[in-house]
Amino acid sequence: AKSAGRNNWQVYAEEMNERVQQKRKLETDLRAAIRYQEFFLEFQPRFQIDDNTLCGAEALIRWNHPVNGRLEPDSFIPIAEQTGLIVPLSDWVLDKACKTALTWPETMFVSINLSPSEFERGDIVSRIGAALTNSGLAPHRLELEITESVLLDDAAKVLDIMSSLKKIGVRLSMDDFGTGYSSLSYLRTFPFDGIKIDKSFIADFVEYDTSHAIIESIVGLGRALSMTVTAEGVENVNQLNQLHKVKCDQAQGYFLGRPMSERQFFDSCITDRQ
Ligand code: C2E
Ligand code: CA
Ligand code: CA
Ligand code: CA
Repeated sequence: AKSAGRNNWQVYAEEMNERVQQKRKLETDLRAAIRYQEFFLEFQPRFQIDDNTLCGAEALIRWNHPVNGRLEPDSFIPIAEQTGLIVPLSDWVLDKACKTALTWPETMFVSINLSPSEFERGDIVSRIGAALTNSGLAPHRLELEITESVLLDDAAKVLDIMSSLKKIGVRLSMDDFGTGYSSLSYLRTFPFDGIKIDKSFIADFVEYDTSHAIIESIVGLGRALSMTVTAEGVENVNQLNQLHKVKCDQAQGYFLGRPMSERQFFDSCITDRQ
């Protein structure tokens, strides 16, 4: 067996080492990317279902890496979270999103995604306050999308932060609703204005009675709690029609519009509708 060369452990150790180095490289690149502003935002439109009006857009970050080209958030957000670089990164997103929304009609909001680690590091309340003051965007036009993983940690602290954010006047929505363990009890505890139903439920909405029943009850729940219910991942007209039938408030997805550049969003979603 020895003559077979490297044993499993050695192979494992080498792979580990490689992965650690890749991570370090990514971290170094990420630092430079923040300095040289290699990021850009894409905007995905969100529509009111009953009258088909554009109500806002979600800002989604992308990285234009000098060597590897366009990178999607799932490939670098986790490293940014682990290294704390998420704070300067997210500050850039906040600033850019608020300034972009200022160029849109006043009826429209912009939503951004917050990472769980932002609730542990730095002062998120003053960061958001500063972004609003710097840009001059009305607070109610900024929506913060928060996933359930944020709420798992120190509930009292998170509740305190969310209450302060509500006082500033921004909107809070629960992202990826239904994918966690205790979405329901969180709705009771935390001051959300909206729910975004995870796209996995929308995907088999039309084919499966169970998903249909789940969506219908989430919409009912949202209504009872005076929360706006948004369906994400709407990819075809059947899904949209069903959502209309169950009176879901808003929708977002490839069928209605892909994430697109600021310019393209303005030209195709805003100018064309005026
Ligand atoms: P998310 O917040 O759940 O965002 C929705 C994701 O679904 C986006 O992927 C979007 O492009 C994609 N999507 C939209 N419509 C459809 C559809 O009809 N079908 C399907 N299959 N997918 C659709 P993206 O842009 O790759 O973002 C992935 C995740 O990265 C986001 O999930 C969010 O959690 C995170 N993210 C994006 N931008 C930021 C950011 O600025 N800050 C932080 N902290 N996280 C971000
Ligand atoms: Ca989101
Ligand atoms: Ca989501
Ligand atoms: Ca997600």
